[in-house]
Amino acid sequence: MNRAVIIGAGAGGLTCGLLLALSGFRVVVLERNGQPGGLMRSYRRAGFDCPVGIHYLGALDKGQPLRRLLDAFGVTERIPLERMGVSGPVDRYHIGEFRFDLPSGLDAFGHALESAFPKEARAVAQIMADLRSAWSRMENLGFLFDAERDLGALKSHSADKEFESLGCSPDLARTLAVSTAWFGVPWRSCPVSFLYMALASYLASSWRLGCSGARFAEVLGKRLLELGGEIVCGDPAVAIGVEAGAAAHVRCASGRVVRAPVVVAAVHPQRMLDLLPEGAVKPSYANRIRGLESTGSAVCLQAAVPADVHPGLPHNILSWPPPFDERGIRFLQLRPEPERSAGLLTVLKYGWWSDWDGFERGETGYREAKERMAAELTAEAEALMGPLPGLEVLDLYTPLTIHRWVDSPHGSAYGVMRSVQQRFQAALLNRTPVKGLFAAGQSVLAPGILGTALGSTQTAILIAGKQAVAKTLGIGEKGYGLNA
Ligand SMILES: Cc1cc2nc3c(=O)[nH]c(=O)nc-3n(C[C@H](O)[C@H](O)[C@H](O)COP(=O)(O)OP(=O)(O)OC[C@H]3O[C@@H](n4cnc5c(N)ncnc54)[C@H](O)[C@@H]3O)c2cc1C
Repeated sequence: MNRAVIIGAGAGGLTCGLLLALSGFRVVVLERNGQPGGLMRSYRRAGFDCPVGIHYLGALDKGQPLRRLLDAFGVTERIPLERMGVSGPVDRYHIGEFRFDLPSGLDAFGHALESAFPKEARAVAQIMADLRSAWSRMENLGFLFDAERDLGALKSHSADKEFESLGCSPDLARTLAVSTAWFGVPWRSCPVSFLYMALASYLASSWRLGCSGARFAEVLGKRLLELGGEIVCGDPAVAIGVEAGAAAHVRCASGRVVRAPVVVAAVHPQRMLDLLPEGAVKPSYANRIRGLESTGSAVCLQAAVPADVHPGLPHNILSWPPPFDERGIRFLQLRPEPERSAGLLTVLKYGWWSDWDGFERGETGYREAKERMAAELTAEAEALMGPLPGLEVLDLYTPLTIHRWVDSPHGSAYGVMRSVQQRFQAALLNRTPVKGLFAAGQSVLAPGILGTALGSTQTAILIAGKQAVAKTLGIGEKGYGLNA
């Protein structure tokens, strides 16, 4: 039987492991933390389930890419989901004084843009055509299986340039650009097609988990065990063994050695490099990986808000005040908790390592800085939602927290930055020059649970072959022409 060892049990490692297991591989996943899930795993404070890396998900309707993957894994029924945008918006944008409600559905989005920007019909028509083109490549996983539908034909210049060439008003440009907050690429350097793919996946359908992120991770992990896989937690990989130019084993901190002819590093590519022996790759490759810029990190407030003060919101809020610097974008959710007398408020903002790396976790200065940040984010939430008396701060996590949890460089939230500036350096990261060594995880194609799972699919195709993975996913012989 083919064997594969995967480093990292985040969304990338688990989805890659499931695809390989379904393609006939015996899979062992090694995870440094005591539990699987990485960023997708939520944590508990005062009985509340606090999300880290899943606030909402796109493309989960029947036949859509993420759903297709979960169906293929056989786990859809075990992951309760709540559809968003059924009787109101998915997101409410507060962009300076301008308001926009992001509806569910590409058609509805086109109509919403037409009515918000009646004088910009030409630009809106072009934007919608490009959004549809991006989605048509994704919707049936066509870009992974059909050379004619790859992403090369999509526009590769920046969103900034695109909106300028279309003559978009600042409000229209920002309405589109605010979604870059989902994946950490400043819109002035974000490839416009990348932005459209992310936006289209949420327009296609948006969902909240009806369970915790921790449960989602456990369901994926359990399914891997059912398929004969193994997950070893609490034992970090410390070295990738290379013999005769090929990946041969992974050594863990405990001394455990797992041998396999296929090794997948589902961690940040710079961490993969740290695990390789000296001289395993040429300096040019090492320099390329070391030189990659990663996205910034995140700071997030979690607070309980009494239900009689605020009943909760079925949509998210994205707020972007002047002067419209990316640092100013905030993501807010106030989720009702039907079984409790308070809802969970989450306020998420970009975070920067340089603002926090002077602190030691646990020291007074760090605690005070967190308290100041919590007060600032609470005040911002109140400015958007009205007074929230009785609000109780449950937690605030910072770039230090993310760094400690998943060991991403400088607490990077979304891995390697997919900017126009490093388009070529960041291309084809799934492959490595070491035979049998592959990469997976959010850095290889795109972040987000969907982007990460699609990157894992690419990696599984490289390892198991297109036919095996297509069969697992129910893809017909003509690639995107599906059997289903
Ligand atoms: C604040 C925030 C909000 C987000 N919100 C959303 C959202 O609403 N919707 C959405 O779709 N996406 C969201 N994302 C993105 C999404 O969570 C990530 O893209 C995805 O979870 C990344 O998965 P991954 O497997 O690539 O990385 P990770 O989750 O980082 O997994 C890597 C794993 O490898 C482990 N590891 C590292 N080094 C070693 C080692 N040496 N040995 C063994 N194990 C190791 C880590 O512990 C970790 O478990 C968000 C992310 C963040 C940070």
